[in-house]
Amino acid sequence: MNASPLRFALTFVVLQTFLTGAVEVWANDMVLADAQQKITRAGARVSVTGSTENFTGQVRVDPVWSADGNSNVSGGLVSFEPGARSAWHTHPAGQRLLVISGVGLIQEWGKPVQEVRPGDLIWCPPGVKHWHGAAPNSAMTHLAVTGAVAGKNVSWMEKVTDEQYDAR
Ligand code: MN
Repeated sequence: MNASPLRFALTFVVLQTFLTGAVEVWANDMVLADAQQKITRAGARVSVTGSTENFTGQVRVDPVWSADGNSNVSGGLVSFEPGARSAWHTHPAGQRLLVISGVGLIQEWGKPVQEVRPGDLIWCPPGVKHWHGAAPNSAMTHLAVTGAVAGKNVSWMEKVTDEQYDAR
């Protein structure tokens, strides 16, 4: 057999392709071998009280997960006593709210107050001014799923007045 330069080059390319593929498969297996499911146990994160600066009434925040290298989205359970609500605010990357229990109220700036109930999902687009809270006679808990831009996920504004809250 003639070991022509062309044949040599072709053999080299085929071998190189095979070896590169083999190394990639091996490297992926190494990554997969390191990856594993992780359970963060209930109670591992401390409940905090919603600050009087950003909330009216009694509000409890139970952090569920933080933004990290895998995702810039965080999640938290927010529980409002009857009549309690957030201040007006915006989110730079938007926010999803899933009502878990009770009866809640939400409002977008310039629009009517709306009642929300368990299973309702609210999408607040980036930069849209809004508030959320409990109805006057019912507590409300929602899961808040909030994206971040440059580490920031909310811009707080003025409190929701009683007149705004009662305007229904
Ligand atoms: Mn919000």
